[in-house]
Amino acid sequence: MSTLGRHIIVEFYNCQPDILNSVVLIEEHMEAAAKTAGATVINTTFHHFSPYGVSGVVVIQESHLAIHTWPEYGYASVDLFTCGDTVDPWQSYNYLKKAFKASHGSAVEMRRGEMNLLNKQEYDVAALRDEKSAENGTPKRTRDIWFTERDEHIALSLKHHGKLYEEQSDFQKVEVYETLAYGNMLTLDGLVMCTEGDEYVYHEMITHVPMLTHGQVKKALIIGGGDGGTARELLKHSDVEEVVMVEIDSKVVEASKRFLPGISSELENQKLNLIIDDGIKYVRESVDESFDLVIVDSTDPIGPGEGLFTEAFYRDVYRILKPSGVMVTQSESPRFNQKVFKEIYACYRKIFGDANVHCYLAYIPTYPTGMWSFSYSTKGGKHPVKDFDNSRVLSFVEANTLNYYNPHIHKAAFALPNFVQEMVALNPADNAEIPAGD
Ligand code: SAM
Repeated sequence: MSTLGRHIIVEFYNCQPDILNSVVLIEEHMEAAAKTAGATVINTTFHHFSPYGVSGVVVIQESHLAIHTWPEYGYASVDLFTCGDTVDPWQSYNYLKKAFKASHGSAVEMRRGEMNLLNKQEYDVAALRDEKSAENGTPKRTRDIWFTERDEHIALSLKHHGKLYEEQSDFQKVEVYETLAYGNMLTLDGLVMCTEGDEYVYHEMITHVPMLTHGQVKKALIIGGGDGGTARELLKHSDVEEVVMVEIDSKVVEASKRFLPGISSELENQKLNLIIDDGIKYVRESVDESFDLVIVDSTDPIGPGEGLFTEAFYRDVYRILKPSGVMVTQSESPRFNQKVFKEIYACYRKIFGDANVHCYLAYIPTYPTGMWSFSYSTKGGKHPVKDFDNSRVLSFVEANTLNYYNPHIHKAAFALPNFVQEMVALNPADNAEIPAGD
């Protein structure tokens, strides 16, 4: 390699102005252009100018791609800078020309850092590394890298030391990050699934509320839950005889076993029957009335998880539940995904009946808006608040180390704010059952 890097200076003409003026589209295209060229994206930052125009940078393992747009002229200036020879920046050029619908483009390639003009410095390069500095007791952090989960209007960013695991499975992109604030974090297709720092909220609430309300669960089914947290909590209930867990993606299980040991700790438990398969198919093929409890610990209603938010699937769950059986699902955030939230509660009520469907909330800092919900639907079994058994709950809580769940949280979780009540359109009296002072 005679030069350190390749720098292509690009001008795109007669591009589609609304593309050039959309910060979301520009960022998507610039990230895709980097990946198309074989680059590894580390970080991105994009800004929309008022009244128009976008500027932004994609930092890649192999250097950076940068852009500034003038939508009013249909013009974009782009810098494609790559180091090493694993990435071909011209592939980014071709991708962007098409993505911006440019009528034509001009580009100049400059070779940067001619080796014969450079003298290697007598310098202890290793001293530059973070780890090296940690050895002499004064950690120095120079890597300021952030993971960001965002939608059009909301974003959550977590600083991290780097990626511990990255695999594109048949279903999704499976990644584990080493975050500073929440420990190791599992993401699927760029969405936070769980972190070591706050997973207990989700896993304790999705299991102990139904388990301690039902009180006699012998056979439970988990759909999804590949990180193992729901199985771990379920297996704390010694009366359970069998837990079947149907997870579609073996890469999630592999990543969790390697980098989330505290969460995946029970994935080898004798009582756990772990099946790598599509939960929709498994439930469809299961016999009637075969489970006391079905927990749908799924991803959001996209990709492999989409079918887990359908009437057909919920009707199959209803069919395989025993007469006093309970279905609990992660039912998204009433703040973040209101459309899905309303639709699934309407569907639960249609299948289980108004009086048998309840919504409860918990607060998970690394989930969008922090406010998350769970649905509790019973096939004619117990009411999660009216039939609350204080002594059963107390003896379980005293016998186990729990970080979130307790008798008060159990009942309070069903006390819904007005805007949530309106969305789930449940019988408001449902809330009135919580005894005053509880
Ligand atoms: N707590 C997380 C949340 O609320 O977003 C869910 C965690 S858990 C890791 C979700 C799991 O559901 C993933 O491992 C995913 O592979 C699995 N999954 C998605 N669709 C599935 C399907 N159709 N059948 C079985 N598992 C599925």
